Amino acid sequence: MKAVSILPLAFSLLLWGCSAPPATQLPSVTEMEAVSNELTATATELASLVESVRTATETLEVQVPTPTTTVVEDDEVVQAGVNGIILFIGDGMGVGQRTAARWLAAGQDGLLAMDQMEVAGLAQTAAYQRPVTDSAAGATAMSSGVQTRYGVVGLDKDYEPVITILEQAEALGWSTGLVTTVQMAHATPASFAAHVADRANMLEIARQYLVADVDVLMGGGEDEFLPGGERGCYPEPGERGDGSNLVAQAQELGYRYICTAEELSSLDVANTPKLLGLFGDEEMVRPFSPSLTEMTIKAVEILSQNPNGFFLMVEGGQIDWAGHANDAAWAMETTLGFDSAVAYGQAYAAIDGNVLVIVAADHETGGMSVGLTPDGTFRQEGPFTGADGQEFYVDWQTGSHTAVDIPINAQGPYANMLEGTYHLAHIYEVMYAALMGK
Ligand SMILES: [Zn+2]
Repeated sequence: MKAVSILPLAFSLLLWGCSAPPATQLPSVTEMEAVSNELTATATELASLVESVRTATETLEVQVPTPTTTVVEDDEVVQAGVNGIILFIGDGMGVGQRTAARWLAAGQDGLLAMDQMEVAGLAQTAAYQRPVTDSAAGATAMSSGVQTRYGVVGLDKDYEPVITILEQAEALGWSTGLVTTVQMAHATPASFAAHVADRANMLEIARQYLVADVDVLMGGGEDEFLPGGERGCYPEPGERGDGSNLVAQAQELGYRYICTAEELSSLDVANTPKLLGLFGDEEMVRPFSPSLTEMTIKAVEILSQNPNGFFLMVEGGQIDWAGHANDAAWAMETTLGFDSAVAYGQAYAAIDGNVLVIVAADHETGGMSVGLTPDGTFRQEGPFTGADGQEFYVDWQTGSHTAVDIPINAQGPYANMLEGTYHLAHIYEVMYAALMGK
């Protein structure tokens, strides 16, 4: 028998009080702790509790029910939803990025791993009152189901905190993880476990990760975790003005800290319940070491040990950066690295049989297009030679994000809910259904 703790919700609410500008009427920590200290509940009651906390957050009223004390068998919790959810986000990855990478690696008649999934859909990406979104608003739509303001992480358009799918998974006793190739505290992973009005506040985002109790954190950005002037594994000193050493704090909280690919490959997964892996001062340097696939494999190995379930977000963060730089070779290389991680996720899910895998993007970057005609302009790169020997060119429309819809693929339970066209926020609804077994 096993009780399901909702203590992470209390931590989240404590966190919100610190980060949301006008959050004056949120449930107090005392109120939440009073509920959580004695709580055991069925998955259904937890669903209702999480939903009511979400409603209370949105309406700024305290509406937390008093759950009955009911003992839950482990297998009831497992049966409540899927065994796991893996959300792959190719930051800035539109159809142009996917087509170019496909032609390069598999030829014009070939397919990438992400092209070979059961379900395909098309997502609109607009932020609140802004048709061209950014990574913060785009990822918050996916993490929380709200259309929020440009640049805002984990808050709605009124700057009120929203509970994320990761926090709900934690509340259900699942293990959770965030993996990226850019800074750990960058906007996309941040939107799943932090709540700040400005995505640039990466030092605060890093602090909030530890409060949110995310079990696996892997990416770049060691500088945001170390005090100013203090060196860790990498040449540049830390940047924290508050003097705190989040690496040391994480270790005190039970995290294993690693910073090399060798440490990751030799990791004793069975004895590593919590992992912080930071593989660069800022973004990870190419070629990534460890690769995104290696990080994804270890994350799944650690998280899937939890019989309740796991949620993992994996970001191909530099597809977007390549788009801003109008660098087609970089875009294709990093899209293919992302696709390799997707291939692992697909294989894992196929063997497990009850894991939802989603491949998404937050927006397109660069207006990247693929064609066969050289035009001699500065916006065109090529020729590139594909795996079938055919030459092709890549054209760019801008150095910024674009408003075009982005492709979605999915497989596993609940994947069919992602057929058709919808806004990015619908991805949250599908993951929530999978989490709760609805
Ligand atoms: Zn983005």
